[in-house]
Amino acid sequence: MNFATRLLHGTDSFDRKTGASSIPIYQASTFHQFDIDQPGEYDYARSGNPTRYALEEMIAHLEGGKRGFAFSSGMAAISSVFLLFSAGDHLIVAEDVYGGTYRVLTNILSRLGVEVSFVDTTQPEAVQASIRPNTRGIYLETPSNPTLKVTDLALLCGMARERGLLTIVDNTFLTPYYQRPLELGADIVIHSATKFISGHSDVVAGLVVTRDEQLGEQLYTVQNGFGAILGVQDCWLVMRGLKTLKTRLDTSSASAAKLARWLKDHPQVERVYYTGLPEHEGHALQERQSSGHGAVLSFDVGSRERVKALLDAVKLPLVAVSLGAVESILSYPAQMSHAAMPPDERRRRGITDGLLRLSVGLEDVNDLIADLEQALAATARFAAVKEFT
Ligand SMILES: *Cc1c(COP(=O)(O)O)cnc(C)c1O
Repeated sequence: MNFATRLLHGTDSFDRKTGASSIPIYQASTFHQFDIDQPGEYDYARSGNPTRYALEEMIAHLEGGKRGFAFSSGMAAISSVFLLFSAGDHLIVAEDVYGGTYRVLTNILSRLGVEVSFVDTTQPEAVQASIRPNTRGIYLETPSNPTLKVTDLALLCGMARERGLLTIVDNTFLTPYYQRPLELGADIVIHSATKFISGHSDVVAGLVVTRDEQLGEQLYTVQNGFGAILGVQDCWLVMRGLKTLKTRLDTSSASAAKLARWLKDHPQVERVYYTGLPEHEGHALQERQSSGHGAVLSFDVGSRERVKALLDAVKLPLVAVSLGAVESILSYPAQMSHAAMPPDERRRRGITDGLLRLSVGLEDVNDLIADLEQALAATARFAAVKEFT
């Protein structure tokens, strides 16, 4: 079965009992036990609920893993995965990791005795050099946010496996449609399902898939024990969104590619980051390990003044944090996702005061181009500041 069909028929997409065309929302916290000597399949909804189970089965199927888990947010999913580790364990984490992931590691897990090294994972030698006797896991995100640096998943998963380390991949940007880390050797895949998986900017959710049953049991203990489960209404919304994942991404990614090429030649744009551009440094690797470049691109207009003029003038995209929705979303990393990062560190990573990130939605691409054209025209009266080396 091909991916588009698997989204609809890979696991039960209708209710086996009644034939209802969508999985019912079992709005129930507990389940009657017909015979206390023969416990039913479900007892208490933190431990399991049929609606949540349907979503968990679906994501496990799509990522090609054994067990799926739904959490109350992407961060709840990520934090629950980190709870697989113990005091004294050391993790190697991609330096461009999502801001919330950085925060939970440095503010919370550090207090619990989990040690972390943030490493440029696009450099395998740097990862190799960071491995310590107590290293237990490698945490990756590719392409990274917002400059879309690409990490070699098969290479690092292989390196980790040889040393008995777990590899965890945040696959939010590409989804299982374009990239399946488990097939490249990863042990755990995580999603902020708030983004492309649900796709409509109307739900906050997280998903995890484990490669094998044993890791699945360990994570189930965390999910049930820590209790950061996804509510059933939101499970339903995520499943509703997931059905159109391929169709949404096909359109948005084609538009992103067209926008990236158009922006690249625009006189008011200093630099464009999109892995689909042949000149992007991660282009070849991305082509090898994934089947698409996704719907997120970043571009640099050269200064904060120009950013301000553009954001004041632009009409179609939502100006907001987040990504992966039916509507285009334009965000300003220097003052949004990466505001807490010291300015020098930000610039070193290419997150200049002129950088914008665009998550391309389902609007007609020519309307998006026309809107950005008039918004970029508004930036022309301000000079670009040379921030690049
Ligand atoms: C949004 C995001 C998260 C966090 O997910 P929430 O659902 O907001 O908690 C984690 N990783 C990436 C790459 C994200 O974009």
